[in-house]
Amino acid sequence: MGSESFWLLTAGPYTPNSPLVGEERADVAILGAGFAGLSSALHLKEAEPGLKVVVLEQAFVGYGASGRNAGFAMTLFGLTLSLTALRFGRQAAAEAHRYMEQAVDYVGELVARYHIDCDYERPGFLRVATSPAYVRRIREEIELAHRLGLTGIEWLDAAAVREQVNSPLYLGAWWEPRCALLNPVKYVRGLKRAAEGLGVRIYEGTPVRSIERRPNGFQLRTPQGVVHAEKIVFATNAYSHLLPPLRRKQVPAFTYIVLTEPLSADRLEPIGWRNRQGIEDARNLVHYYRLTPDNRLLMGGGDVGVPFSKQMDLDENERIFRELEAYIPRVFPSLRGVRIEYRWGGPVSVTIDMAPAIGFLGDRRAVYTLGCIGHGVALTTMNGQIVRDLILERRTALTDLFFVNRRVIPWPPEPIRFALGHLIRGYMRLEDRVLDRGSFRA
Ligand SMILES: Cc1cc2nc3c(=O)[nH]c(=O)nc-3n(C[C@H](O)[C@H](O)[C@H](O)COP(=O)(O)OP(=O)(O)OC[C@H]3O[C@@H](n4cnc5c(N)ncnc54)[C@H](O)[C@@H]3O)c2cc1C
Repeated sequence: MGSESFWLLTAGPYTPNSPLVGEERADVAILGAGFAGLSSALHLKEAEPGLKVVVLEQAFVGYGASGRNAGFAMTLFGLTLSLTALRFGRQAAAEAHRYMEQAVDYVGELVARYHIDCDYERPGFLRVATSPAYVRRIREEIELAHRLGLTGIEWLDAAAVREQVNSPLYLGAWWEPRCALLNPVKYVRGLKRAAEGLGVRIYEGTPVRSIERRPNGFQLRTPQGVVHAEKIVFATNAYSHLLPPLRRKQVPAFTYIVLTEPLSADRLEPIGWRNRQGIEDARNLVHYYRLTPDNRLLMGGGDVGVPFSKQMDLDENERIFRELEAYIPRVFPSLRGVRIEYRWGGPVSVTIDMAPAIGFLGDRRAVYTLGCIGHGVALTTMNGQIVRDLILERRTALTDLFFVNRRVIPWPPEPIRFALGHLIRGYMRLEDRVLDRGSFRA
């Protein structure tokens, strides 16, 4: 329960590296060993093998969202394409989508290059319309995508989607072949092995407690050691507000998952789902679901947890677990009474304008990456290449992307932040309830 995901509990034995004890010197120190931190380390060493790179992880590799997510590597950037277009302009929305297309493909390339055994499959993605209002929403998004010149997304009507995955709720779907599914814990541990293979040093059980800027670098204090580094990378995602220089850039929101027992052939037969696509609905507080390799149904999303101030212990939420469990037979009636065997939750990083952010912090010696908005498997892997270019002070097509070094609107201080977080969540829930009207009820 809680922070122990199915993936963490079943990926096989794992011995974390020892914590840092004593002094360490590095060209680059990276805080956080999720996809972002490890991908940054890996790409730095690939580019400059002589660079000394250390990663400091407060708990263990994959402790954060990287070890708890649903494993969709998908093209979504921020909340929706239309919101990105509204906030940054249409050209930026197209640029973001193309970046994410590259990101999804790149996960596959990395998996192949480093022989990462992570149950990688590429079955594609369905965003399903579960009420007439969501039919309109999805069709408008697809029209926008096509007007922006984006390809690889098409509308399936109710009969076509139900032929693939049969649910009485489905009235149509966005179909996008470019989406992979993987086991996130096997993937993050594979990134660790790949980075270590190139000479990256990774310390686990090593929280960075303080960071001091010095004329020629940084001094990072951990419980039993100190790191002197010329440059640093904050790959701390949803935990970033706990670090003073990033306090106002993002807040965590907690999302939850329930996982069933392996589904028998009898239970699966009425659903079909032979191509095993990853599925989301079109609500603001989306439901996301998929099959695991052993044919369990993973059902996640719905309502989210909004913490106050530095609170980070919202990994369990009985009410939301119950809501997710109750949603399963609504989508797939043949799964009524199915046993739930795992429940967990974890924090995603949310900027106030619901878009990722990455860039220099203060000067060119510190870089941060955050704001995955619940869709960071492909994004944060790819962001490792941007971090590399920023740290090496190279100007590339990646560092010219509009969201790199963008102005991040700060969240207000507490208690206003908490109230605003609840207001946004309340609005999203209300709109979801209105748009859910007209959806099928048995
Ligand atoms: C339940 C859930 C489902 C999700 N499903 C999907 C999905 O299907 N597809 C998708 O694309 N995205 C999904 N996401 C989001 C995705 O998991 C994240 O975007 C991604 O894992 C972020 O990677 P990261 O490396 O930036 O952050 P994290 O994996 O959170 O890593 C940050 C690390 O920093 C460490 N840290 C923090 N502070 C310190 C410190 N002071 N010192 C040292 N270490 C520190 C933390 O312990 C943590 O390990 C989901 C997230 C959750 C929670």
